[in-house]
Amino acid sequence: MSIWSYANSQLRDLVAYEPGKPIDDVARELGLDPREIIKLASNENPLGPSPKAIEAMRATLDHAHIYPDGGGYYLREAIAKKFGLSRENVVLGNGSSEIIEFVGHAFLQPGDEIVVSRHAFVIYKLAAQLFGSSAIEVPDPHFAHDLEAMAAAITPRTKAIFVTNPNNPTGTLVTQAEIDRFVARVPENVVILFDEAYQEFLDEPSDTIKYVRQGRQNIVVARTFSKIQGLAGLRIGYGLACPELASILQKTREPFNTSAVAQAGALAGLLDEGHQQATRKLNREGRDYLQRCFASLGLKYVPSHANFVLVKVGNGKAIFKALQERGVIIRDMDSYGLPEWIRVTVGTMEENTRFIRELNHFIAAPATQKVDKCH
Ligand SMILES: *Cc1c(COP(=O)(O)O)cnc(C)c1O
Repeated sequence: MSIWSYANSQLRDLVAYEPGKPIDDVARELGLDPREIIKLASNENPLGPSPKAIEAMRATLDHAHIYPDGGGYYLREAIAKKFGLSRENVVLGNGSSEIIEFVGHAFLQPGDEIVVSRHAFVIYKLAAQLFGSSAIEVPDPHFAHDLEAMAAAITPRTKAIFVTNPNNPTGTLVTQAEIDRFVARVPENVVILFDEAYQEFLDEPSDTIKYVRQGRQNIVVARTFSKIQGLAGLRIGYGLACPELASILQKTREPFNTSAVAQAGALAGLLDEGHQQATRKLNREGRDYLQRCFASLGLKYVPSHANFVLVKVGNGKAIFKALQERGVIIRDMDSYGLPEWIRVTVGTMEENTRFIRELNHFIAAPATQKVDKCH
């Protein structure tokens, strides 16, 4: 008998999440100099962390022998203050991916269902599978969440429904009016998780936190320090929920799920508005540039509200490989059922122009003459 026959059966079909390829892996495999490689594959902040966050993290290293504050007092206090909430509303996660998993731990059992949009972040489906539940995928016209259809897809087995806004990997947005209608329609026994990993990139952000403030009991708003804060390597994010729901989620986490270094970096980063503004500005300029270039190259793209763009290139896997050999890492969209598309993260202007120059090598000849126009 294989040990597999004793393991939880749902794990057999579980396919691990495929992350953006690390720079060092590509350097090793292709014999390239890591300093020559750029990674535009995981929606990281090209400016890096806030210098204030780096300083705060360094200061914690002398105390690395002491366990972190598992309750995350100062960070939760600061997050609560920022949103007009109280500490009891805030749950820290080892990345906001862990907040998603908490919802699974707390609400999902074998045979249950979650509802997701067709091309939403794949982690929800993986989390559901981990708990023996299944995902109902709702079609997404023009790559946007169809919240009406998602609410209509709820069955008596549905325990949670996930809304990614803006969505990854499509970059699309749902409006405040759509959100309000949706929240009014979803029954209170179904947990709605608003995944707002890219919310800070929006010029006019929607407001879902008002529902937490109002005490609506089935809402979790998940945010992360991995994206605009540039702390992806630290693994820290948070969920906002009414005190009852937050206390349920708290019970599912490990006692020291976020490190002292991560908490310190996140706290200093949260308070550094200037760094976030600079990131937003760089992102807006880079995204405009990329979208202009795609248009002049005759490539179809989905206008993005986040720090990446989904663009149709023909054979996504082939372009991914070809670019990788030239030291540019992007993401093919095979695993999202979009083999003709790639997703590219907005980098620094230097990185963006290099990506476009390299991409230009691999797309149809007539278009290549047009590429200069986007500069
Ligand atoms: C990046 C991302 C996250 C956050 O991941 P972390 O675990 O916080 O690094 C969550 N949701 C979406 C949609 C993302 O793209």
